[in-house]
Formats: sequence, C-alpha cells, structure tokens
Amino acid sequence: MAKIFCIANQKGGVGKTTTTVNLAAGLAKIGQRVLLVDLDPQGNATMGSGVDKRALQQTIYDVLLGQAGVRDAAVLSEPGGYQVLGANRELAGAEVELVELEQRERRLKNALAEVGGEYDFVLIDCPPSLSLLTLNGLCAAHGVIVPMQCEYFALEGLTDLVNTIKQVHANLNPDLQIIGLLRVMFDPRITLQQQVSEQLKEHFGDKVFDTVIPRNVRLAEAPSYGLPGVVFDANAKGSQAFVEFAQEMVGRIKRM
Ligand code: ADP
Ligand code: MG
Repeated sequence: MAKIFCIANQKGGVGKTTTTVNLAAGLAKIGQRVLLVDLDPQGNATMGSGVDKRALQQTIYDVLLGQAGVRDAAVLSEPGGYQVLGANRELAGAEVELVELEQRERRLKNALAEVGGEYDFVLIDCPPSLSLLTLNGLCAAHGVIVPMQCEYFALEGLTDLVNTIKQVHANLNPDLQIIGLLRVMFDPRITLQQQVSEQLKEHFGDKVFDTVIPRNVRLAEAPSYGLPGVVFDANAKGSQAFVEFAQEMVGRIKRM
C-alpha cells in the first residue's frame, strides 16, 4: 500500500512545492510509483510538473467534492514520470463548499483509499495555511515532511505546526507523525544557518533528515520550463540532493 506524506509548513515560500515536485521526480527516477496531489489553489506543483493547470478537465477540486475519482482525474507528468492530481484556482472555492459536506476533513483520505495499491508514494503539496484543505492532507497522511530554511525565526514557526500535528494526531488521525524536518535552501557559508541547523538536530534528533538541500538556482529556474529540477538539470547540486533525499525516504518507509 502507498505511504502518504504531506509536505507542509504554514509559512509561504519555504520550499514546499519545490520539495514535493523534486521528491516526486527523484522517487520516480529510482523506480517508485508516485502520485503527486496538489492541494494548493495556486497550482504551482501542477505547473512545475509540466501539467497545464488551465487545460485540466478534472482536478483535486472535483475529487474533494465527490464529482470524480482519483483515477479519472489524475494525469501523467511526462517529464517527471509520475501521476499528478492537479489543482487550479477553482480549488479556492472548495474551502467554502466543503464545510457543508459530510466528513469534510476526510474527503481526500477516502478518495485515496481507492488507489492505495497503485502507488508506492503519495505526496501532497499543502497550501501555506492551516486551512480545511491542509486538514484534508493531514487526515489522509501517514506522515508530514516539513521543509524549512535554517533562519532565526524557523524554530518559532515550527511550534504552531507541531501543535497542529499533535491535535490532528489526537483527534482525527492517530497514524499521523512528523517524519522529518528537511533543511532546504541551505547555504553552509552562512554561520547563522549552520547554528540553526545544529539547534534543529539538538531539539529534534533523528527527526532531522540526513539529506540537506542546498540553495541552487537551477531548482528555481526549472518551473519556468515546466520541468522538475531533477529533470531540468540532473547534474545540478540541488537535483542530486533531491535524488539522495528520495533514497533516504525509501529507506525510511521500510522502517515505518
Ligand atoms: P512554497 O511552496 O513553500 O511556497 P516554493 O517551493 O514555491 O515554496 O519556493 C519558494 C521560492 O524559492 C521559489 O521561487 C523556488 O523556486 C525557490 N526555491 C525553493 N527551493 C530552492 C532551492 N533549494 N534553491 C534555490 N531556490 C529555491
Ligand atoms: Mg507552494
């Protein structure tokens, strides 16, 4: 059965989408069957996978509202070699429409249950909020991957997320755990980043992934070509780090 992971952090611009897309492509590259679920109405993970969000017949919106199954709505990321359940602006409306529905936090979990046997990994790119959409992601997942920059306020921001995950664990999804903190956009020349990185390891121990994703402009350039960085420039340091991270994740799920 597929292991399901949310890539979440309530801050914007911390590297959630870049992590989701490149982990998906990295896992596909090493032979894993992957479904990427875009839960952000911005649709950046969809576009970054080379799927035109404006041309989609069906999206995650239809799945959440029960108007389509995952199998019907998912499309192939040709460059990435994984399936994408895409999102576009329509998803912003789901927040309001979901409130009326039964089991409003479990819509994604129930939809994914039908396709669990078809994938090794399901990766959910969450919006930068602790909204009903994010809650659907957290209810569906076995674990959370938290990308973070090693900056001064990083630890402070983490407290809110950790508390939310604890609440979801206690009330809605007893499977849920933090799989790990992923240090992204890392620049080893900046002393503060090294210090925060050390603090993270002190506080969170082996919940900090071994792999570190460096700041790398090739990862930032790739989405404008509709390609995951891992595909756009396989030799770039950032791309190599994401393939390494994919290998680390394959190792981790064996121990789950
Ligand atoms: P989020 O989804 O959390 O809002 P994004 O993944 O969209 O964050 O990243 C925010 C910005 O930082 C984007 O412009 C992205 O291209 C850039 N970025 C992300 N990771 C890296 C990295 N490792 N090196 C350089 N730029 C990065
Ligand atoms: Mg994003």
